[in-house]
Amino acid sequence: MVYNTLTKRKEPFHPLRPGEVRIYVCGPTVYDYIHIGNARSFVAFDVVRRYLEYKGFKVKFVSNITDVDDKTIRRAKELNITLQQLGELYTEAYFEDLKALRVKKADVNPRATQHIGEMIALIEKLIEKGYAYVVEGNVYYDVTKFPEYGKLSGVKVESLIKGARVEVDPNKRNPADFALWKSRKPGEPFWYSPWGPGRPGWHIECSVMSSIYLGETFDIHAGGKDLIFPHHENEIAQSEAASGKPLARYWLHNEWLTINGEKMSKSLGNFITVRDAVSKYGAQTLRMFLISAHYRSPIDFNERTIEQARRNLEKIRSSIQAFRRLRELETQVEGEKELLAHVEDLRRRFEEAMDDDFNTPKALAAIFDFISELNEFTGSREGVSRETKGRVLKVIEELLDGVLGIETKVEEKEVQGLSPKLVELILEVRNVLRRRRDYETADFIRSKLEELGFVIEDSASGTRWKFKG
Ligand SMILES: [Zn+2]
Repeated sequence: MVYNTLTKRKEPFHPLRPGEVRIYVCGPTVYDYIHIGNARSFVAFDVVRRYLEYKGFKVKFVSNITDVDDKTIRRAKELNITLQQLGELYTEAYFEDLKALRVKKADVNPRATQHIGEMIALIEKLIEKGYAYVVEGNVYYDVTKFPEYGKLSGVKVESLIKGARVEVDPNKRNPADFALWKSRKPGEPFWYSPWGPGRPGWHIECSVMSSIYLGETFDIHAGGKDLIFPHHENEIAQSEAASGKPLARYWLHNEWLTINGEKMSKSLGNFITVRDAVSKYGAQTLRMFLISAHYRSPIDFNERTIEQARRNLEKIRSSIQAFRRLRELETQVEGEKELLAHVEDLRRRFEEAMDDDFNTPKALAAIFDFISELNEFTGSREGVSRETKGRVLKVIEELLDGVLGIETKVEEKEVQGLSPKLVELILEVRNVLRRRRDYETADFIRSKLEELGFVIEDSASGTRWKFKG
């Protein structure tokens, strides 16, 4: 089931073409580094994509780059560089940030400035069909001509007109009309068009780029909640007026991310860029934090919630690492059958959660329950049969690495500044000392290792270690 903003309810998910899913996610406006609120959207819909792929769908994923609009033009002027230079700079940075967050690359990242010709063609079509009008080199969309205007956001044209929620522009027939083409202003970049030099409006960009790469109707259109109105409402008005077909079957929107309980805003100065958060907390911790809430629930970023995410990540990883370190045996040991039952139960609960509108916190709860079982198994055994080990790790990798994008195969080269091999060597030496009954030195080594963040457990079957946490 998928919650559809268009119908305001959860619906069974059926793609237009069986076995194939086409997704469009509104990408960034490349005028600055992306912030963690943007990242929430990109990570949320990356999980959606990964889960659909896990379920066997062939996914085509398109996410645009808005490299011309008011913000980019203003910023390029401020920095005294060309629009193109600005676009290249922040598009590159955006790709780096997504890569750090393990967001899979889109199949296509179309850039608005490379599709101006198609935008002009769509605007011409809208004029021809009577949905748009030209005033002094500008082209506007007449919202009163599209009876379904407001069907996504619930916004009523009349209240827009009365309430003047939009800026007053003497060129517009109705205050709620929006620009498809903006005539050239001095000092601004421009393209030639049948209405004179100018540039496209932001909304037309997405209408054009989605249809070029995904067709007139595709399956999922997604983005942040802030895009519902006017951006997505206007996309619908443009695309559906031109094609006479629905633009997207399912509209998915993620909720806000707040910082210390407040909305991120320029005026409050509480913007946190992805790169700052990554360098301070780690990309995987940030990703863990972002998926810890359901995408349609608000999430608050603060020291406590990010610390919780760090701990959860460490808990999962150290548990899986300890299991990975178990010696591989030819035959099964006691308890393996139960462990395999737990891992199947994990898969079932995980899928049940994700099938219910991609409920990641519920899926994570299933993982934590399994982790407890896994710890119990690993804690009292020296080895596990090769087959069971392989089967358990396969499920973990499919769900955690594959769907949630949480890396479980962390290089054990260096943890807490020490290589695990070295820790094992130290423990070996310590065991020699214990056999020689030099308990004083053995205890000294143990307490030093504990200071470094390791837990050392001696038992009849030997000595094992793990990370504190
Ligand atoms: Zn868009």
